[in-house]
Amino acid sequence: MSSLHEGMPNIASRVIPVDPFDLVIFGGTGDLARRKILPGLFRRFIAGQMPANARIIGAARSDMDSAGFRAMVAEAIAEFGGMESPPQAKLDAFLKQIHYVAIDARGEAGWAELQELMKGTDKIEAYYFSVAPALFGDLAERLQQWGMADKQARIVVEKPFGRDLETAQALNATLATYFDERQIYRIDHYLGKETVQNLMAVRFGNMLFEPLWNAQYVDHIQITVAETVGVGGRGEYYDKSGAMRDMVQNHLMQLLCLIAMEPPARFDPNAVRDEKLKVIRALDPVLPHHIIRGQYDADHDDAEGHPNYRDAVGDPRSKTESFIALKTQISNWRWSGTPFYLRTGKRMSARSSEITVVFKETPHSIFAEDAGQHRNVLSIRLQPNEGITLGVTIKEPGPGGMRLIDVPLDMTFSEALGEDAEQVDAYERLIMDVIRGNQTLFMRGDEVEAAWAWTDPIIQGWEARGDVPKFYDSGSDGTTEAFEMMRRDGREWRKVAP
Ligand code: NAP
Repeated sequence: MSSLHEGMPNIASRVIPVDPFDLVIFGGTGDLARRKILPGLFRRFIAGQMPANARIIGAARSDMDSAGFRAMVAEAIAEFGGMESPPQAKLDAFLKQIHYVAIDARGEAGWAELQELMKGTDKIEAYYFSVAPALFGDLAERLQQWGMADKQARIVVEKPFGRDLETAQALNATLATYFDERQIYRIDHYLGKETVQNLMAVRFGNMLFEPLWNAQYVDHIQITVAETVGVGGRGEYYDKSGAMRDMVQNHLMQLLCLIAMEPPARFDPNAVRDEKLKVIRALDPVLPHHIIRGQYDADHDDAEGHPNYRDAVGDPRSKTESFIALKTQISNWRWSGTPFYLRTGKRMSARSSEITVVFKETPHSIFAEDAGQHRNVLSIRLQPNEGITLGVTIKEPGPGGMRLIDVPLDMTFSEALGEDAEQVDAYERLIMDVIRGNQTLFMRGDEVEAAWAWTDPIIQGWEARGDVPKFYDSGSDGTTEAFEMMRRDGREWRKVAP
């Protein structure tokens, strides 16, 4: 398949500049802005997508002027921009488009200055809430008070969106007081990944897969999002959240929706999101013995001496999970009887996000000499090495009869499509979508609420039972109970491989 590379159109030349915009980044001095948002915008600038009169306005409480902020942005690009040495002329030109306002989301400081900056512009106005969720409501209210919440404005809201159904409903209601749903862009950066969109292209752009995409032909589906890192410096936040809230309720459920949804009539925001919502609403409740929680223990061979979970979060009795494996079913015509297995965890053996569709065996084998079990396996890798592999069964080469082996047909996108295919990070794509006014890859309020409605009873069950997660070794692929759950079903987890 890598021969696709030949004759490929020049992807970089397809970049279409967006309309002029002003993007205010509340939390412009924060970790997310420095690691992802600002370097991503610079890459879009280099790609020629940012108009010359676009402005990026950092806004946070730190007392500095635009020159100070530009220096911070230049440092962030040097550290996180993913370029050996950023082209100086481009960097200088980009920095000219950067401004800063010292502002307090909860006070009056800075709002008059921001209002003045944004006055009379006929450009697209976007406000990125890259601050703690407790400030989302304050920012929405202040924007309205200061006349910046007009019908053209867009707001971008980071995760977490609530910590349960009740808080998500309250946040939706607050935002709805000031903004229409079409103005609200709830980020789940997984949806901005190239392969996630490719998942839709593969499913709905090919005749090959869709006829087989159902319980009749699919044995089961696995979704794994494995990280090698621990909680790091986010221990305090993470311990109040856990893998269920931090990963499953949003990222894994979004992936589940895309793999399981019916074909939307059009690739338009509401058509796609309507179909995703139907999947969430058709999810069966998870039975207690179909969900395994784990907490990482130290890796005793680890020379760097990473702490175990409880030491990392500073609570020797913490009952928060850093690992989840669960089995669920979708009660609809397409999927009834096909289990979906979801797994995510920290300090696992490799960093790997993958969706795997395991097809059923052929109904009858005509090859008497072959005793093996053969199943087509379609695996969609989100990170690293984004790409798709289809396992097919062929004859083992050489003499000696008809013995079969399984071989992968591999399409790694960077190989198949050339270097350009790798360069758009999820945040870059999503910010450009905000400017274009395309909500397809953002979560709608009702989707988020439906996801919490499914998640809440699971968490409440643990709390009621005083459930304590089982330990797993750092560097392993989770608890033994997670493997047993699969074995009971006569199946096995895919190896977590980088
Ligand atoms: P952070 O590093 O703590 O940054 C918070 C930002 O908010 C800082 O710029 C801070 O600057 C500003 N801020 C705090 N209080 C403020 C106030 N009263 N008024 C105005 N600005 C205020 O947090 P972060 O990691 O960047 O995360 C930002 C958001 O993104 C959070 O919702 C987080 O959950 C979400 N998120 C982050 C990541 C990530 O990788 N970091 C990933 C996914 C989601 P001052 O102190 O100068 O005011």
